[in-house]
Amino acid sequence: MVAALNFHFRKTFPNGALIDADLQIRLDPPTVTVLFGPSGAGKTTILRALAGLERSANSVIRFGRETWVDQNNGMFIPPQRRRIGFLFQDYALFSHLTVEGNIRYGLRGLSANEQLLRTSELLERFQLQDLATRHPHQLSGGQKQRVALARTLAPQPRLLLLDEPLSALDGPTREALRGELRNLLSSLSIPVLLVTHDRMEALALGDEIAIVSEGRIVQHGPIEEVFRRPLTPAIAKIVAVETVQRARVLQADEELVTLVAGEARLIAAARDFPSDVKEAFVCIRAEDVLLLKSLETVSASARNRLPGIVKSLMHEGPMWRIELDCGIPLTALLTRQACEELALQENDRVLAMIKAMNVHLIPRSS
Ligand code: ADP
Ligand code: MG
Repeated sequence: MVAALNFHFRKTFPNGALIDADLQIRLDPPTVTVLFGPSGAGKTTILRALAGLERSANSVIRFGRETWVDQNNGMFIPPQRRRIGFLFQDYALFSHLTVEGNIRYGLRGLSANEQLLRTSELLERFQLQDLATRHPHQLSGGQKQRVALARTLAPQPRLLLLDEPLSALDGPTREALRGELRNLLSSLSIPVLLVTHDRMEALALGDEIAIVSEGRIVQHGPIEEVFRRPLTPAIAKIVAVETVQRARVLQADEELVTLVAGEARLIAAARDFPSDVKEAFVCIRAEDVLLLKSLETVSASARNRLPGIVKSLMHEGPMWRIELDCGIPLTALLTRQACEELALQENDRVLAMIKAMNVHLIPRSS
């Protein structure tokens, strides 16, 4: 049997919010699973339930061969015996304790000697030696985060829960720490559940993603797969697929499906699209749309070549977001360099190229 974390939790809160989440995560090899979804979806509650801070009659939680919770059989292992590390969104550092004191707090139960040893180890590992005697209010956001992580990891947890670990930081710090956090997580070799609602963060930090919507896990899989191939239009919206359009199937064989959406004809890889379904949503990620000036000779292999007009160009971080009218509204995401090479401007005529495998279909029953 493969070691797994099995999580089932169901609870209704007084405000009517229902959490009804089922999640299974393989523990070996350890992975980073991102919980992703809109605010209020239930992400924090899922972490709290795992940590034992949230209880409900209808829950079963198993960690490998251990049962942590089986409420119907009166089983409930208290938080401290689960050996979980939980990093809260606001870090929850003790303001009256120094950096060293905060880290040491995580080591209660060890002998004084061991505490000293492990604390200095962690101070070094997180490059906090020079800050050891400072108090939290004397630290930058990034430093606070390092202290909080050091404290969380001090007792060598078997499972790490991170609730929006970068959300308290400003933009540039956040991006810098994203890389640091990724290195740290891959060096830990313990399973991690990480909450974020930032797509770049999810892609940078996670192996797998579980989409949380209205208290449920609605899709769970490898990150790229879930971002490109959402199961429903609602999930497409949560993962912000830029182009989602209704389409009608014109023709389908085992390999390809031809559809019409608006005024555009699209060809999609059939995969397991059911042959009897005549209506679909097409989903196209902006980064999968390649743009050419329409007069160029085309040698690329993409099946879809849609003539269109540039409606608008917008900065989006280091990228440009281009809104097109190709018979359907279509969004492309280009690097600044690509944009400059094309010298793109509003009202330019372009050719949008999309590979059939990057046109994802969601069957629609009429
Ligand atoms: P997220 O972390 O995804 O933003 P939460 O898990 O914090 O969402 O909250 C999910 C829903 O459950 C919300 O509607 C919230 O108001 C409700 N909720 C969570 N915890 C409690 C609580 N202790 N008491 C009442 N309602 C709660
Ligand atoms: Mg939350």
